[in-house]
Amino acid sequence: MEKFIMLKPYFSHTIWGGTRLRDEFGYDEPGDDIGECWGISAHPSGESVACGGEYNGKKLSELWDEHRELFGNASGDRFPLLIKIIDARDDLSIQVHPDDKYAGVHENGSLGKTECWYVLDCPENGELVAGHNAESKEELIRMIDNGEWDRLIRRVKIKPGDMIQIEPGTVHAITGGVCVLETQQSSDITYRLYDYGRLQNGKPRQLHLDQSKDVITVPALPEDKQVIKTGNMADNSVNELISCNHYKVAEISVKGEFSFSSEAGFLCATVIKGSGKIYDTDVKKGSHMLITAEGAKRVELSGDMELIISCMPA
Ligand code: ZN
Repeated sequence: MEKFIMLKPYFSHTIWGGTRLRDEFGYDEPGDDIGECWGISAHPSGESVACGGEYNGKKLSELWDEHRELFGNASGDRFPLLIKIIDARDDLSIQVHPDDKYAGVHENGSLGKTECWYVLDCPENGELVAGHNAESKEELIRMIDNGEWDRLIRRVKIKPGDMIQIEPGTVHAITGGVCVLETQQSSDITYRLYDYGRLQNGKPRQLHLDQSKDVITVPALPEDKQVIKTGNMADNSVNELISCNHYKVAEISVKGEFSFSSEAGFLCATVIKGSGKIYDTDVKKGSHMLITAEGAKRVELSGDMELIISCMPA
C-alpha cells in the first residue's frame, strides 16, 4: 500500500481574496482574488486530486469510496475533514455555522461545521472575530435587529502560531491581512450574519439572519476556551494543539530527521514552513498530503520544516 498520497488543491476565488497563495506558497493559480486553497478536500464544491503515484488523477472522494483500506477502513459515507489555507486580503463576512443536528434537519442531511484556525501570518496587533457579547437570546436578537455590530461582536488578539477553535454556533470572521490554516469538518454550510454593507456586482450578498439567530450559542464560550496560545513548541515532536469530537490537530517542527508512529487510520498533513522530505519525496511549504494507514504506522520526515497534521479522534 502507498504510504502517502500527494494532493493537488482546489482554489476558490472570492471578493476578499488576494495573491498571497501564489506569491508566498508558490501555487500555480492565476488571478488576484484567490481566497482559499482547499488542500485536502473531498467536498463536492471543490475536490483535491491525487498527484503522482499509483492513484494519480483520482479524486479524494473516489479514493474514500473505492479504497477505504487507505484510510484504515474508517467508517462514514464521506471523507470527514477539509483542510484549507485561507488568505484574507480583506475582511470575511461575519458568520456562524450550524452543528450536525441542525444541518442534518435544515440543510439536506449535510454535516454541521466545527473548525479551527492555525494563524500562519497576521498584522501586528492582529485580531479575529470569535464570539459575541450578548448575554441572552433576547439581547442577541435585539443587537442583530438594530445592527449594533460593534457592540455585538467580540474581537480577540492573535499572533502567528495561535490556534482558535470555532465550535458550531460561534460568531466568527477572519479579518483582513490574516492567513490561516483551517482544519474543519467537511461541510460548506455558512450562515452570513453581517457583510459590512459590501456589494458584490452591485448587490449585497445574501444574509441568513433567521438561521443565525437560531444557531448562535448564547452566551458565547469564554475567550480562553477558544484561543489556544502556543509557546515555543519542541522540535521533532508531535505537539497536540486541539482535540475535539471531530478532529485532532498537531504541529510538528522537523529539524534534521524525525519519525513518529500514529494509531490513526490516516493523517492529513500540510507543510506550512520550510522544506524537506516525507520518506524519500521532496515537499515544501504549501505541500498537502494524505498519509495512509500504512504510512501512519511510521511517518518519516526530514529537513527543516513545519507541518500541521490532523486526524480523526480515536
Ligand atoms: Zn467558518
